[in-house]
Order: sequence, then C-alpha cells, then structure tokens
Amino acid sequence: MQVYTKILIGMVVGAVVGIFLGPNSSFLPADIYRVEALESLHVRMDADREDSVVPFDRLLGVTRHRVRQLSIVQSRYEMKEDALGKKIKVPSWVEVLFPYDQKLSLRDPDKIIKKAMGNPDVGQSVSVWLRVRTEPLSEGGFAQFPRPVSGIGEHVVTFVRPVGTIFMSMLKMTIVPLVFSSLLVGVASLGDVRRLGRLGGRTLGLYMVTTAIAVSIGLIVANIVSPGNYVAEADRVFLQGQYAGAAGSKAGMAADAPSPMDNILSIIPENPIDALASGNMLQVIFFALMLGIAITLLEKGKGSPIVAFFDRLQNAMIMIIHMVMAIAPFGVAALVADVVGQSGVSVLSALLVYSLAVVIGLLIHGGLVYGMIVKLFTKVPVLRFMGAIRPAQLIAFSTSSSSATLPVSMKCAEENLGVSNPVASFVLPLGATVNMDGTALYQGVAAVFIAQVFQIDLSVMDQLGIVATATLASIGTAGVPGASIVMIALVLTTAGIPTDGLALILGVDRFLDMARSSINVTGDLAVTAAMAAQEGETVQVREKTVVPSGSSEGDSGSDVDSSVS
Ligand code: ASP
Repeated sequence: MQVYTKILIGMVVGAVVGIFLGPNSSFLPADIYRVEALESLHVRMDADREDSVVPFDRLLGVTRHRVRQLSIVQSRYEMKEDALGKKIKVPSWVEVLFPYDQKLSLRDPDKIIKKAMGNPDVGQSVSVWLRVRTEPLSEGGFAQFPRPVSGIGEHVVTFVRPVGTIFMSMLKMTIVPLVFSSLLVGVASLGDVRRLGRLGGRTLGLYMVTTAIAVSIGLIVANIVSPGNYVAEADRVFLQGQYAGAAGSKAGMAADAPSPMDNILSIIPENPIDALASGNMLQVIFFALMLGIAITLLEKGKGSPIVAFFDRLQNAMIMIIHMVMAIAPFGVAALVADVVGQSGVSVLSALLVYSLAVVIGLLIHGGLVYGMIVKLFTKVPVLRFMGAIRPAQLIAFSTSSSSATLPVSMKCAEENLGVSNPVASFVLPLGATVNMDGTALYQGVAAVFIAQVFQIDLSVMDQLGIVATATLASIGTAGVPGASIVMIALVLTTAGIPTDGLALILGVDRFLDMARSSINVTGDLAVTAAMAAQEGETVQVREKTVVPSGSSEGDSGSDVDSSVS
C-alpha cells in the first residue's frame, strides 16, 4: 500500500473517532464543562444567594490557561422564547463539581477562595453553581455558554493526543539540521554564486507573484459569493459570544508582532547559533547560504571536510524522516481526531458558506495557477504532479503546518519528482517560510467576509490595500497552525475593519487551516519544480514514492546529481 493511502486511511479513522467519540460527539452524554478561562464564569456557592459568589476574579490572568473539567451534578431550567416564538426549557444554573486542586491552592495564598468554597481540603471537589448564558439562534433553539461536552470524549482525545504530538515533534526535530545541512551542501556543490543569485531572484519573484494572485482570487471569490450575507444575526451573536476572548488575545498578539518589513530586515542573524537554536528559518537559510558560498571560495579542497560532514548529517536526517513516516498514519489519525473532536461540526454549519468560499478559492488557485505553472515550466501532467506530492499535501493537511511538512516536501521533490538536492534544499525551505498562498488567499476572503457581516463597504482601493498587506503579511506568517489569524488582525486594521470580527471566523479556523496549509505546500512544490526545470533539470514523476519505513537501502536521497539531466 502506498504511504499516502495509509495516511488517508489514518485521516478518515481520525475524523470518525473525532466525530463519534470526541468531546463534542452527539452520541455521548454531555456531562462536563471544559473551562479554559475561569474569569469568564459566574460561579456561586448557592444558586439562589447573590452574595455567595466565589471570587475567581482574584485569579484573573494567572488562571487563564488552566483547563478544568467540571462534572455536572444537576441543572436548573427556565422557560424562554426562541427566535421562532417557541417556548423552550433552557438551563439557567448548573451545579458542578469543582476541584480545589494543588495549583489552585498555590495561587490562593490568602485562602480567600478556599474560604469561599467552604474550606475544602486540597484535592477535594466542592459543588458550586455555574451561571449558564443562552442566546437565541436564528433557526430556533438556543446557544449555550459554556457548552457542556462529553467526559468520555475528553478522555479519548487526551488519550490519542500524545501520538499526534510525538509525530509533529519528530517532524519538527529534523527541520533545522535538515535545512541547514542540505542548503550548505547544495550551495557548496553548486559552486557558482551567479547561478545561486539567479535562482534566488526567480524563486522569490515567482513566490511573490503567486501570492498576489492568490489574494486577488480570494477577494474575487469573496465578492462574488458574499459569504457575509449568509450569516444569521443570531449566529453572529453566538460566534462573537463564544470567541470574543480568543479574538481579543489574537488582536493583542498582532499589536506586539513585528511589522512585515521588520521580519524581512531581520533576515541577517546577529548570532547564527541563536538562529539555529530558535529555529528562525529565514536567518538559518541566510547563514547556510553565506557559509556555503564561503566554503566554495576557500582554497581548493580546504572546504571538503565540512561539506562531507554536513552531507552525512543530511543523509542521517533523511533516514530519520523515513522512520517518522512509518508512524505517519497513526500520527495523522491522532491529530485529525483531536481537531475534529475539539471543534465539533456545529460551528461549521453556521459558517458553511464562508468555509465553502475559502475552499473554492483554494481549489481555483491550486488547480489553475499551480496547474499552469507546472504545465508551462515542467511539462509534467498536472494530475501526476499532484499524485507525486500527495504525501506532503496530506501531512500539511493533518498537521496544519507547512514548516512541519518541510522534510516530507523535500523528500517528495527529490524522490518523487527528481528535483536535484541543491534546488530542492534552496527553494523549499524558502517557500515554507515566505510563500503562503493559501494563507494569503484566506486573509483576503476573511477580510471581505468580516466587512460584509459588519456591513462595511470596501472600495477598490481598500481591496488593493488588502492585496498588498496580505501579500506582505503572508511572508511574515510562520508555518505553524493558526499563525495567520494574528496576521489577519493586521490586515483588518489596515482596511479599517474591527478586529472583533476575528471572533466570527475562529470557530472554523482550524479546519480551514488544514486546507490552506496544503495549498501553501503545493505552491512551494510547484515553484520548486518550475525552478528545477528553469535550471535545466528534467522534472518527471518517478514511480517510486516516499516509502513508509526505515528500510531504505541506498534510498537516502543524497544522490545530488541523480536527477539532473
Ligand atoms: N498553518 C499555516 C501553515 O503552516 C499558516 C497559517 O495560515 O496559519 O502553512
């Protein structure tokens, strides 16, 4: 069985587990509250006594990231009329078991909370009453905050999550040594600085052009589909109620983020060891390039030991990726189960048209723009090209990270498409860092969508501004899950759209992140194939695809010249 078939099966299994056995499953009893921000709760010791409030607000700030699972004991209901005029019984106060655990006790040095909770021992659970807020939904019924989830589902995702984390971390572990060593070896064996300059110029040029086209496609699709017109007033209220806190913190992060220009200017590392240690890819690429060039300029033969050392290191990294790919189907299953289980499918339906607009835009960009690049530059049939890079697309889809996918992308380029090592190791790491077409397109759709919901008219000039900002912002977006949300905050501010609107899209962000990360990686690989063809290489789909196990005799991908015709 091909590796991508196994990964695909892993994804399907993960999605099924997430939907049926995850915290938001409608097949399991919703018996606990999963609370991430205690300060957002209104808690009393006695539902009927207003003076029995537990002073969690004291812990504001320190408690924010402490996730708690509160088992439900009983609920009190009240009758409320929904948007369709029907009287419905909705919960108003819920009795939950709240653990006074060690961490809470440490954060409560004056024992104010302990006293308010009736002096429980550390580790003991106390019953408290939680205020439940309800908002009417346009289609009838009510949305509830916080929303109860399944305790069993929480256990299932807690159980599978480590497998996904191990897989992600093992991929990430190889990135810095792989990029550094392969780039250095590639440049040193290229032996021609002019060729490098030419390759660099063309690569960056094509990356920028495809990104600008991507935002434009995003804007056109969003204007035609007008997803903002399909969000019911009640859904807007629901989404803003549910995600307002998260949106605020993302906007705060955007305020602290360096500007896109600062990102570009900081490409020269003051301390290359620091750049390697912190995994600052642009700086790592810059230093590897400089060192590679310097080695070629040394007296003949003097640089060979360094090149030989890094060549072996590169081979060893590729061997590690072979091993990691053996657990890919399990890792992917765990990651997908976690995402699907946590997010649930209910927000997806509220934002269905918006999500469709994003996916349509991504498909147009992936099919037309990359199809044309591949066809024009390489003559490889587009579908065969897509088949050859499928392992990378699937890993990007399930990890939502183009950085974590980089090692797999490099393997696909070299082993499945026959791109030479110097070209792959230069163009791909650069792409994983600066080329984010899916992200840029997404920023365009998101900006127009939020403007539509808030009924803000965007002029042509505003939209051109969005193209420029989103193109630059996508360069500064890290290839990690959810990175573009912070950048969208920047794009929104530039276009004069309130950043509160982020709350509207956060619920489906992770799903759409999967799709846009796949497109990001597809774009990197399409440009890599085009650049290889420009360098006179024959890009062709090889029958052999990335193998799933560590048993790879002579298949280390280090054969630099094997694919150069
Ligand atoms: N997750 C994306 C990537 O890694 C970045 C983003 O759009 O958030 O490519």
